[in-house]
Amino acid sequence: MTRLFIDGSWCEAATGAKRSIINPFDQSTVAEVAEGAEEDVDRAVRAARAAFTGGRWSRSTLAERAALLNRVADLLQRDKEEIARTETLDTGKTLVESRVDVDDVTAVFRYYAGTIDALRPRRVDTGQPGVVSRIDHEPVGVCAMIAPWNYPLLQICWKVAPALAAGNSLVAKPSEITPLTTIKLFELLAEAGLPAGVANLVLGTGKAVGAPLVEHPDVDLVSFTGSLATGRWIARTAGEAVKKVALELGGKNPNIVFADADLETAIDYALIAAFLHGGQVCSAGTRLIVEDRIYDDFVTEIARRADAVRLGNGLDEDTESGPLVSAEHLAKVQRYAEIGQREGARLLAGGHRPDEKELRDGFFFRPTVFADCTREMTVVRDETFGPIITAERFRSEDEAVELGNDTDYGLAGAVWSGEGDKAERVAARLRHGTVWINDFGPYLPQAEWGGFKRSGIGRELGPTGLHEYCEPRHVYRNLAPRPQHWFARDLTG
Ligand code: NAD
Repeated sequence: MTRLFIDGSWCEAATGAKRSIINPFDQSTVAEVAEGAEEDVDRAVRAARAAFTGGRWSRSTLAERAALLNRVADLLQRDKEEIARTETLDTGKTLVESRVDVDDVTAVFRYYAGTIDALRPRRVDTGQPGVVSRIDHEPVGVCAMIAPWNYPLLQICWKVAPALAAGNSLVAKPSEITPLTTIKLFELLAEAGLPAGVANLVLGTGKAVGAPLVEHPDVDLVSFTGSLATGRWIARTAGEAVKKVALELGGKNPNIVFADADLETAIDYALIAAFLHGGQVCSAGTRLIVEDRIYDDFVTEIARRADAVRLGNGLDEDTESGPLVSAEHLAKVQRYAEIGQREGARLLAGGHRPDEKELRDGFFFRPTVFADCTREMTVVRDETFGPIITAERFRSEDEAVELGNDTDYGLAGAVWSGEGDKAERVAARLRHGTVWINDFGPYLPQAEWGGFKRSGIGRELGPTGLHEYCEPRHVYRNLAPRPQHWFARDLTG
Protein backbone atom coordinates (compact mmCIF):
# COMPACT_ATOMS: atom_id res chain seq x y z
CA MET A 1 0.00 0.00 0.00
CA THR A 2 1.50 3.32 -1.02
CA ARG A 3 -1.58 5.45 -1.18
CA LEU A 4 -3.80 7.65 0.95
CA PHE A 5 -6.29 6.02 3.31
CA ILE A 6 -9.56 7.90 3.48
CA ASP A 7 -12.90 6.67 4.82
CA GLY A 8 -11.69 3.10 5.01
CA SER A 9 -10.33 2.91 1.43
CA TRP A 10 -6.90 3.19 -0.15
CA CYS A 11 -6.97 5.86 -2.85
CA GLU A 12 -4.74 7.93 -5.12
CA ALA A 13 -4.23 11.62 -4.47
CA ALA A 14 -6.84 13.83 -6.16
CA THR A 15 -4.15 15.30 -8.45
CA GLY A 16 -2.62 11.87 -9.14
CA ALA A 17 0.77 13.18 -7.95
CA LYS A 18 3.49 10.80 -6.69
CA ARG A 19 6.73 11.03 -4.73
CA SER A 20 9.76 8.77 -4.66
CA ILE A 21 10.93 7.66 -1.24
CA ILE A 22 14.72 7.48 -1.03
CA ASN A 23 16.95 5.20 1.03
CA PRO A 24 19.43 7.58 2.71
CA PHE A 25 22.11 4.86 2.69
CA ASP A 26 22.51 4.77 -1.11
CA GLN A 27 19.83 7.08 -2.56
CA SER A 28 18.02 4.15 -4.18
CA THR A 29 14.25 4.45 -4.55
CA VAL A 30 12.45 2.43 -1.90
CA ALA A 31 8.87 3.20 -2.95
CA GLU A 32 6.63 5.52 -4.93
CA VAL A 33 3.81 6.96 -2.85
CA ALA A 34 0.81 9.15 -3.53
CA GLU A 35 1.38 12.85 -2.82
CA GLY A 36 -1.75 14.52 -1.47
CA ALA A 37 -2.90 18.13 -1.36
CA GLU A 38 -5.65 20.32 0.08
CA GLU A 39 -8.52 18.53 -1.65
CA ASP A 40 -7.43 15.22 -0.08
CA VAL A 41 -7.17 16.89 3.33
CA ASP A 42 -10.72 18.12 3.01
CA ARG A 43 -12.02 14.67 2.06
CA ALA A 44 -10.16 13.09 4.97
CA VAL A 45 -11.44 15.62 7.51
CA ARG A 46 -15.00 15.19 6.26
CA ALA A 47 -14.69 11.41 6.58
CA ALA A 48 -13.30 11.79 10.10
CA ARG A 49 -16.13 14.14 11.08
CA ALA A 50 -18.81 11.82 9.67
CA ALA A 51 -17.29 8.87 11.54
CA PHE A 52 -17.15 10.87 14.75
CA THR A 53 -20.76 12.01 14.47
CA GLY A 54 -21.89 8.52 13.46
CA GLY A 55 -20.65 7.31 16.81
CA ARG A 56 -19.50 3.76 16.01
CA TRP A 57 -16.15 4.59 17.59
CA SER A 58 -16.76 7.78 19.54
CA ARG A 59 -19.59 6.10 21.50
CA SER A 60 -18.04 2.62 21.63
CA THR A 61 -17.48 1.00 25.01
CA LEU A 62 -14.15 1.18 26.77
CA ALA A 63 -13.88 -2.61 26.50
CA GLU A 64 -14.29 -2.44 22.70
CA ARG A 65 -11.58 0.21 22.46
CA ALA A 66 -9.17 -1.68 24.70
CA ALA A 67 -9.69 -4.83 22.64
CA LEU A 68 -8.88 -2.99 19.41
CA LEU A 69 -5.73 -1.39 20.88
CA ASN A 70 -4.54 -4.81 22.03
CA ARG A 71 -5.22 -6.26 18.56
CA VAL A 72 -3.11 -3.50 17.00
CA ALA A 73 -0.32 -4.30 19.47
CA ASP A 74 -0.50 -7.99 18.48
CA LEU A 75 -0.33 -7.11 14.78
CA LEU A 76 2.65 -4.80 15.31
CA GLN A 77 4.49 -7.70 16.94
CA ARG A 78 3.40 -10.15 14.24
CA ASP A 79 4.91 -7.88 11.56
CA LYS A 80 7.76 -6.53 13.70
CA GLU A 81 10.60 -7.59 11.41
CA GLU A 82 8.97 -6.23 8.25
CA ILE A 83 8.13 -2.94 9.96
CA ALA A 84 11.63 -2.59 11.39
CA ARG A 85 13.26 -3.20 8.00
CA THR A 86 10.95 -0.68 6.37
CA GLU A 87 11.80 1.94 8.99
CA THR A 88 15.51 1.34 8.41
CA LEU A 89 15.18 1.63 4.63
CA ASP A 90 13.22 4.85 5.03
CA THR A 91 15.26 6.62 7.74
CA GLY A 92 18.69 4.96 7.65
CA LYS A 93 18.61 4.11 11.37
CA THR A 94 20.03 0.74 12.41
CA LEU A 95 17.79 -2.31 12.48
CA VAL A 96 18.37 -2.68 16.23
CA GLU A 97 16.95 0.81 16.79
CA SER A 98 14.01 0.17 14.46
CA ARG A 99 13.16 -3.01 16.37
CA VAL A 100 13.26 -1.09 19.64
CA ASP A 101 10.84 1.44 18.12
CA VAL A 102 8.35 -1.32 17.19
CA ASP A 103 8.53 -2.76 20.72
CA ASP A 104 8.07 0.70 22.16
CA VAL A 105 4.92 1.48 20.20
CA THR A 106 3.52 -1.98 20.94
CA ALA A 107 3.94 -1.17 24.63
CA VAL A 108 2.20 2.19 24.12
CA PHE A 109 -0.88 0.54 22.54
CA ARG A 110 -0.96 -2.00 25.37
CA TYR A 111 -0.50 0.68 28.02
CA TYR A 112 -3.52 2.67 26.83
CA ALA A 113 -5.56 -0.53 26.48
CA GLY A 114 -4.65 -1.42 30.06
CA THR A 115 -5.35 1.98 31.60
CA ILE A 116 -8.50 2.83 29.68
CA ASP A 117 -10.49 2.71 32.92
CA ALA A 118 -9.12 6.18 33.60
CA LEU A 119 -11.85 7.32 31.18
CA ARG A 120 -14.70 6.09 33.35
CA PRO A 121 -16.78 8.95 34.72
CA ARG A 122 -15.25 10.41 37.90
CA ARG A 123 -17.68 11.00 40.75
CA VAL A 124 -17.46 14.45 42.26
CA ASP A 125 -18.20 14.81 45.94
CA THR A 126 -20.62 17.76 45.99
CA GLY A 127 -20.94 17.99 49.74
CA GLN A 128 -24.66 18.54 49.26
CA PRO A 129 -27.49 16.05 49.76
CA GLY A 130 -29.78 15.75 46.76
CA VAL A 131 -27.07 16.54 44.19
CA VAL A 132 -24.89 14.12 42.27
CA SER A 133 -22.17 15.23 39.99
CA ARG A 134 -19.60 13.57 37.75
CA ILE A 135 -16.91 14.26 35.19
CA ASP A 136 -17.27 12.46 31.85
CA HIS A 137 -14.24 12.16 29.58
CA GLU A 138 -15.53 12.90 26.11
CA PRO A 139 -13.41 12.60 22.96
CA VAL A 140 -12.33 15.99 21.57
CA GLY A 141 -13.54 15.21 18.02
CA VAL A 142 -11.42 15.30 14.86
CA CYS A 143 -7.69 15.34 15.62
CA ALA A 144 -4.97 16.32 13.15
CA MET A 145 -1.63 14.57 13.74
CA ILE A 146 1.55 15.76 12.13
CA ALA A 147 4.80 13.86 12.64
CA PRO A 148 8.51 14.29 11.81
CA TRP A 149 10.99 12.00 10.03
CA ASN A 150 13.32 10.91 12.83
CA TYR A 151 10.96 8.47 14.61
CA PRO A 152 8.19 8.14 12.03
CA LEU A 153 6.30 5.16 13.48
CA LEU A 154 6.94 5.98 17.12
CA GLN A 155 5.83 9.63 16.94
CA ILE A 156 2.59 8.89 15.13
CA CYS A 157 1.73 6.00 17.50
CA TRP A 158 2.25 8.18 20.57
CA LYS A 159 -0.65 10.23 19.19
CA VAL A 160 -2.84 7.58 17.53
CA ALA A 161 -3.01 5.19 20.51
CA PRO A 162 -4.30 7.66 23.15
CA ALA A 163 -6.54 9.47 20.61
CA LEU A 164 -8.27 6.21 19.70
CA ALA A 165 -8.47 5.14 23.33
CA ALA A 166 -10.37 8.35 24.05
CA GLY A 167 -12.78 7.78 21.12
CA ASN A 168 -11.56 10.42 18.67
CA SER A 169 -11.42 10.39 14.88
CA LEU A 170 -8.18 11.46 13.25
CA VAL A 171 -6.31 12.50 10.16
CA ALA A 172 -2.58 11.74 10.21
CA LYS A 173 0.19 13.28 8.13
CA PRO A 174 3.64 11.71 8.40
CA SER A 175 6.75 13.45 7.15
CA GLU A 176 6.78 13.42 3.36
CA ILE A 177 10.25 11.83 3.35
CA THR A 178 9.48 8.92 5.73
CA PRO A 179 5.83 7.82 5.30
CA LEU A 180 6.25 4.05 4.91
CA THR A 181 5.76 2.69 8.43
CA THR A 182 2.82 5.04 9.00
CA ILE A 183 1.19 3.56 5.90
CA LYS A 184 1.79 0.12 7.40
CA LEU A 185 0.23 1.23 10.70
CA PHE A 186 -2.94 2.20 8.84
CA GLU A 187 -3.09 -1.24 7.21
CA LEU A 188 -2.94 -2.73 10.69
CA LEU A 189 -5.60 -0.40 12.11
CA ALA A 190 -7.95 -1.53 9.33
CA GLU A 191 -7.05 -5.19 9.87
CA ALA A 192 -7.70 -4.79 13.59
CA GLY A 193 -11.27 -3.71 12.74
CA LEU A 194 -11.30 0.06 13.28
CA PRO A 195 -14.51 1.38 11.66
CA ALA A 196 -14.10 3.22 8.33
CA GLY A 197 -13.44 6.95 8.57
CA VAL A 198 -12.15 6.92 12.15
CA ALA A 199 -8.47 7.02 11.13
CA ASN A 200 -7.44 8.65 7.86
CA LEU A 201 -4.03 9.12 6.29
CA VAL A 202 -2.97 11.88 3.93
CA LEU A 203 0.59 11.86 2.58
CA GLY A 204 2.34 14.97 1.36
CA THR A 205 4.39 18.00 2.29
CA GLY A 206 3.95 20.39 5.18
CA LYS A 207 2.89 23.13 2.84
CA ALA A 208 0.41 21.17 0.70
CA VAL A 209 -1.09 18.89 3.38
CA GLY A 210 0.11 19.93 6.86
CA ALA A 211 -0.89 23.58 6.66
CA PRO A 212 -4.42 22.97 5.22
CA LEU A 213 -4.94 20.34 7.90
CA VAL A 214 -4.02 22.79 10.68
CA GLU A 215 -6.22 25.47 9.09
CA HIS A 216 -9.22 23.23 8.38
CA PRO A 217 -12.24 24.63 10.24
CA ASP A 218 -13.54 21.17 11.10
CA VAL A 219 -10.39 20.05 12.93
CA ASP A 220 -10.76 20.32 16.72
CA LEU A 221 -7.24 19.50 17.89
CA VAL A 222 -3.79 19.65 16.33
CA SER A 223 -1.06 17.45 17.74
CA PHE A 224 2.31 18.23 16.21
CA THR A 225 5.82 16.86 16.64
CA GLY A 226 8.56 18.66 14.77
CA SER A 227 10.70 21.75 14.69
CA LEU A 228 10.30 24.91 16.73
CA ALA A 229 9.85 27.00 13.58
CA THR A 230 6.89 24.94 12.32
CA GLY A 231 5.52 24.61 15.86
CA ARG A 232 5.41 28.41 16.21
CA TRP A 233 3.35 28.76 13.06
CA ILE A 234 1.00 25.98 14.15
CA ALA A 235 0.56 27.52 17.62
CA ARG A 236 -0.31 30.88 16.04
CA THR A 237 -2.69 29.41 13.49
CA ALA A 238 -4.44 27.03 15.86
CA GLY A 239 -4.58 29.79 18.50
CA GLU A 240 -6.30 32.16 16.09
CA ALA A 241 -9.06 29.57 15.54
CA VAL A 242 -9.04 28.57 19.24
CA LYS A 243 -8.26 24.94 18.44
CA LYS A 244 -6.63 22.74 20.99
CA VAL A 245 -2.97 22.31 20.26
CA ALA A 246 -0.25 19.99 21.55
CA LEU A 247 3.36 20.60 20.51
CA GLU A 248 6.41 18.37 20.89
CA LEU A 249 9.30 20.46 19.61
CA GLY A 250 13.06 20.45 19.73
CA GLY A 251 15.58 20.08 22.51
CA LYS A 252 19.14 21.00 23.41
CA ASN A 253 19.73 18.53 26.11
CA PRO A 254 22.48 18.82 28.73
CA ASN A 255 24.38 15.72 29.80
CA ILE A 256 26.08 16.74 33.07
CA VAL A 257 28.95 14.59 34.37
CA PHE A 258 30.43 15.05 37.85
CA ALA A 259 33.94 13.80 38.62
CA ASP A 260 32.58 11.28 41.14
CA ALA A 261 30.46 9.47 38.52
CA ASP A 262 31.19 5.95 37.25
CA LEU A 263 33.20 7.40 34.38
CA GLU A 264 33.42 4.28 32.21
CA THR A 265 29.61 4.09 32.15
CA ALA A 266 29.21 7.85 31.72
CA ILE A 267 31.53 7.81 28.68
CA ASP A 268 29.69 4.87 27.17
CA TYR A 269 26.32 6.58 27.61
CA ALA A 270 27.61 9.97 26.41
CA LEU A 271 28.33 8.35 23.05
CA ILE A 272 24.92 6.68 22.92
CA ALA A 273 23.21 9.91 23.99
CA ALA A 274 24.76 11.90 21.17
CA PHE A 275 25.36 9.50 18.31
CA LEU A 276 22.35 7.19 18.39
CA HIS A 277 20.51 7.68 15.09
CA GLY A 278 23.22 10.19 14.11
CA GLY A 279 22.06 12.64 16.79
CA GLN A 280 18.72 13.03 14.96
CA VAL A 281 16.85 12.62 18.23
CA CYS A 282 14.87 15.40 19.92
CA SER A 283 16.30 14.29 23.28
CA ALA A 284 19.86 13.73 21.99
CA GLY A 285 22.47 14.50 24.67
CA THR A 286 24.75 16.47 22.39
CA ARG A 287 25.50 19.12 25.01
CA LEU A 288 28.11 17.55 27.28
CA ILE A 289 28.85 19.48 30.48
CA VAL A 290 31.78 17.98 32.40
CA GLU A 291 33.39 18.80 35.77
CA ASP A 292 36.65 20.66 35.34
CA ARG A 293 38.99 18.17 37.02
CA ILE A 294 38.07 15.27 34.73
CA TYR A 295 37.22 17.34 31.64
CA ASP A 296 40.38 16.84 29.56
CA ASP A 297 40.63 13.08 30.02
CA PHE A 298 36.88 12.63 29.57
CA VAL A 299 36.57 14.50 26.27
CA THR A 300 39.78 12.97 24.89
CA GLU A 301 38.34 9.51 25.47
CA ILE A 302 34.98 10.53 23.95
CA ALA A 303 36.80 11.76 20.85
CA ARG A 304 38.88 8.57 20.60
CA ARG A 305 35.73 6.46 20.68
CA ALA A 306 33.86 8.79 18.31
CA ASP A 307 36.59 8.21 15.75
CA ALA A 308 35.98 4.48 16.04
CA VAL A 309 32.19 4.53 15.46
CA ARG A 310 31.34 2.18 12.57
CA LEU A 311 29.10 3.91 10.04
CA GLY A 312 27.26 1.83 7.50
CA ASN A 313 24.03 0.40 6.12
CA GLY A 314 21.42 0.27 8.87
CA LEU A 315 20.43 -3.19 7.62
CA ASP A 316 23.90 -4.61 8.42
CA GLU A 317 23.87 -5.97 11.94
CA ASP A 318 27.39 -4.68 12.71
CA THR A 319 26.63 -1.05 11.72
CA GLU A 320 26.73 1.21 14.77
CA SER A 321 25.27 4.33 13.16
CA GLY A 322 23.51 4.96 9.86
CA PRO A 323 23.38 7.94 7.54
CA LEU A 324 21.54 11.20 8.11
CA VAL A 325 18.06 11.29 6.66
CA SER A 326 18.51 13.49 3.57
CA ALA A 327 20.95 15.55 1.51
CA GLU A 328 19.31 18.70 2.83
CA HIS A 329 19.76 17.64 6.43
CA LEU A 330 23.37 16.60 5.83
CA ALA A 331 24.08 20.07 4.44
CA LYS A 332 22.58 21.64 7.58
CA VAL A 333 24.72 19.49 9.89
CA GLN A 334 27.85 20.25 7.83
CA ARG A 335 27.12 23.96 8.17
CA TYR A 336 26.93 23.62 11.96
CA ALA A 337 30.29 21.83 12.03
CA GLU A 338 31.83 24.71 10.07
CA ILE A 339 30.22 27.32 12.31
CA GLY A 340 31.58 25.50 15.39
CA GLN A 341 35.15 25.79 14.10
CA ARG A 342 34.67 29.39 13.00
CA GLU A 343 33.41 30.34 16.47
CA GLY A 344 36.49 28.85 18.13
CA ALA A 345 35.41 25.40 19.33
CA ARG A 346 38.34 22.93 19.23
CA LEU A 347 37.65 20.04 16.86
CA LEU A 348 38.72 16.73 18.43
CA ALA A 349 36.97 14.26 16.13
CA GLY A 350 34.99 14.16 12.88
CA GLY A 351 33.83 17.39 11.32
CA HIS A 352 33.72 15.85 7.86
CA ARG A 353 32.07 13.17 5.70
CA PRO A 354 33.57 9.66 5.87
CA ASP A 355 36.30 8.70 3.43
CA GLU A 356 35.13 5.14 2.68
CA LYS A 357 34.11 4.60 -0.93
CA GLU A 358 31.13 2.42 0.00
CA LEU A 359 29.60 5.25 2.03
CA ARG A 360 29.93 7.85 -0.69
CA ASP A 361 26.34 7.64 -1.96
CA GLY A 362 24.85 7.90 1.53
CA PHE A 363 24.17 11.04 3.56
CA PHE A 364 26.89 10.22 6.12
CA PHE A 365 28.69 12.56 8.50
CA ARG A 366 31.43 11.47 10.90
CA PRO A 367 30.65 11.66 14.64
CA THR A 368 32.06 15.03 15.67
CA VAL A 369 33.40 16.25 19.01
CA PHE A 370 34.08 19.87 19.89
CA ALA A 371 35.94 20.83 23.08
CA ASP A 372 36.47 24.26 24.70
CA CYS A 373 32.87 25.21 23.98
CA THR A 374 31.09 28.11 25.65
CA ARG A 375 27.42 28.73 26.12
CA GLU A 376 27.32 31.61 23.60
CA MET A 377 28.39 29.45 20.66
CA THR A 378 25.82 28.68 17.99
CA VAL A 379 26.59 24.95 18.14
CA VAL A 380 25.88 24.99 21.88
CA ARG A 381 22.65 26.98 21.58
CA ASP A 382 21.04 25.55 18.42
CA GLU A 383 19.59 22.10 18.02
CA THR A 384 22.04 20.82 15.37
CA PHE A 385 20.11 17.53 15.07
CA GLY A 386 23.28 15.79 13.96
CA PRO A 387 26.18 13.79 15.46
CA ILE A 388 27.92 16.79 17.03
CA ILE A 389 28.97 16.79 20.69
CA THR A 390 29.88 20.11 22.25
CA ALA A 391 31.78 19.88 25.56
CA GLU A 392 31.69 22.64 28.22
CA ARG A 393 33.32 22.70 31.67
CA PHE A 394 31.87 23.44 35.10
CA ARG A 395 33.49 23.95 38.48
CA SER A 396 30.58 23.82 40.96
CA GLU A 397 27.16 22.26 41.38
CA ASP A 398 25.52 25.66 40.90
CA GLU A 399 27.42 26.27 37.69
CA ALA A 400 26.40 22.84 36.36
CA VAL A 401 22.73 23.64 36.98
CA GLU A 402 23.05 27.12 35.53
CA LEU A 403 24.62 25.82 32.32
CA GLY A 404 22.12 22.97 32.09
CA ASN A 405 19.25 25.41 32.24
CA ASP A 406 20.80 28.01 29.96
CA THR A 407 18.86 27.02 26.86
CA ASP A 408 15.61 28.10 25.23
CA TYR A 409 14.56 24.46 25.21
CA GLY A 410 13.61 22.18 28.10
CA LEU A 411 13.03 18.68 26.81
CA ALA A 412 15.48 16.38 28.58
CA GLY A 413 18.74 16.23 30.47
CA ALA A 414 20.92 13.92 32.54
CA VAL A 415 23.12 14.09 35.59
CA TRP A 416 25.88 11.60 36.41
CA SER A 417 27.23 11.34 39.94
CA GLY A 418 28.16 8.68 42.46
CA GLU A 419 26.58 10.77 45.19
CA GLY A 420 22.83 10.13 45.15
CA ASP A 421 21.83 13.25 47.10
CA LYS A 422 23.84 15.54 44.85
CA ALA A 423 22.37 13.96 41.71
CA GLU A 424 18.85 14.39 43.14
CA ARG A 425 19.55 18.04 44.06
CA VAL A 426 20.71 18.81 40.54
CA ALA A 427 17.85 16.85 38.93
CA ALA A 428 15.32 18.79 41.00
CA ARG A 429 16.68 22.09 39.67
CA LEU A 430 16.87 21.16 35.98
CA ARG A 431 14.07 22.81 33.98
CA HIS A 432 13.55 19.92 31.57
CA GLY A 433 10.58 17.60 31.00
CA THR A 434 12.64 14.44 31.58
CA VAL A 435 15.73 14.13 33.77
CA TRP A 436 17.80 10.96 33.89
CA ILE A 437 20.10 10.18 36.81
CA ASN A 438 23.03 7.93 35.89
CA ASP A 439 21.35 7.01 32.62
CA PHE A 440 20.43 8.62 29.32
CA GLY A 441 17.52 8.03 27.00
CA PRO A 442 14.87 5.72 28.43
CA TYR A 443 11.22 6.69 28.28
CA LEU A 444 8.20 4.76 29.45
CA PRO A 445 4.64 4.57 28.10
CA GLN A 446 3.41 5.20 31.64
CA ALA A 447 5.51 8.37 32.19
CA GLU A 448 4.73 11.75 30.64
CA TRP A 449 7.03 12.95 27.84
CA GLY A 450 7.32 16.57 26.73
CA GLY A 451 8.99 19.87 27.18
CA PHE A 452 9.39 22.83 29.49
CA LYS A 453 9.88 26.21 27.82
CA ARG A 454 10.11 26.16 24.00
CA SER A 455 10.26 22.39 23.78
CA GLY A 456 6.52 22.36 23.57
CA ILE A 457 3.05 22.55 24.98
CA GLY A 458 1.36 19.59 26.66
CA ARG A 459 2.58 16.05 27.19
CA GLU A 460 2.49 12.72 25.41
CA LEU A 461 2.40 9.29 27.11
CA GLY A 462 1.27 8.60 30.67
CA PRO A 463 -2.17 9.59 31.98
CA THR A 464 -1.69 13.19 30.76
CA GLY A 465 -1.08 11.92 27.21
CA LEU A 466 -4.56 10.37 27.29
CA HIS A 467 -6.29 13.37 28.82
CA GLU A 468 -4.88 15.62 26.05
CA TYR A 469 -7.42 13.87 23.79
CA CYS A 470 -10.40 14.29 26.14
CA GLU A 471 -12.88 17.03 26.90
CA PRO A 472 -13.99 16.77 30.52
CA ARG A 473 -17.73 17.32 30.82
CA HIS A 474 -19.21 18.10 34.20
CA VAL A 475 -22.71 16.66 34.63
CA TYR A 476 -24.48 18.07 37.69
CA ARG A 477 -27.78 16.48 38.59
CA ASN A 478 -30.24 17.89 41.06
CA LEU A 479 -32.19 14.95 42.49
CA ALA A 480 -34.83 17.09 44.21
CA PRO A 481 -35.37 20.28 42.16
CA ARG A 482 -37.50 22.98 43.88
CA PRO A 483 -38.28 26.57 42.85
CA GLN A 484 -35.72 29.02 44.24
CA HIS A 485 -37.88 32.16 43.90
CA TRP A 486 -34.83 34.26 43.23
CA PHE A 487 -36.87 36.46 40.87
CA ALA A 488 -40.52 37.41 40.96
CA ARG A 489 -40.67 36.79 44.69
CA ASP A 490 -43.63 39.16 45.08
CA LEU A 491 -45.67 37.44 42.38
CA THR A 492 -45.20 33.97 43.74
CA GLY A 493 -45.64 35.01 47.35
P1 NAD B 1 9.51 19.92 10.65
O1 NAD B 1 8.88 20.92 11.55
O2 NAD B 1 10.23 20.40 9.45
O3 NAD B 1 8.42 18.90 10.09
C1 NAD B 1 7.61 18.14 10.95
C2 NAD B 1 6.32 17.80 10.24
O4 NAD B 1 5.60 19.01 10.02
C3 NAD B 1 6.51 17.17 8.85
O5 NAD B 1 5.50 16.21 8.67
C4 NAD B 1 6.31 18.35 7.92
O6 NAD B 1 5.89 17.98 6.63
C5 NAD B 1 5.24 19.12 8.66
N1 NAD B 1 5.15 20.56 8.34
C6 NAD B 1 6.12 21.39 7.87
N2 NAD B 1 5.62 22.63 7.71
C7 NAD B 1 4.32 22.59 8.10
C8 NAD B 1 3.27 23.56 8.19
N3 NAD B 1 3.45 24.83 7.84
N4 NAD B 1 2.08 23.16 8.66
C9 NAD B 1 1.87 21.89 9.04
N5 NAD B 1 2.81 20.93 8.95
C10 NAD B 1 4.02 21.27 8.51
O7 NAD B 1 10.43 19.01 11.56
P2 NAD B 1 11.37 17.81 11.08
O8 NAD B 1 12.60 18.40 10.52
O9 NAD B 1 10.59 16.82 10.28
O10 NAD B 1 11.66 17.10 12.49
C11 NAD B 1 12.73 17.41 13.29
C12 NAD B 1 12.26 18.20 14.49
O11 NAD B 1 11.32 17.44 15.25
C13 NAD B 1 13.39 18.50 15.45
O12 NAD B 1 13.33 19.84 15.86
C14 NAD B 1 13.11 17.57 16.64
O13 NAD B 1 13.63 18.00 17.86
C15 NAD B 1 11.62 17.53 16.64
N6 NAD B 1 11.16 16.34 17.37
C16 NAD B 1 10.64 16.51 18.63
C17 NAD B 1 10.22 15.40 19.36
C18 NAD B 1 9.65 15.55 20.76
O14 NAD B 1 9.16 14.56 21.29
N7 NAD B 1 9.70 16.70 21.38
C19 NAD B 1 10.33 14.14 18.79
C20 NAD B 1 10.87 14.01 17.53
C21 NAD B 1 11.28 15.13 16.82
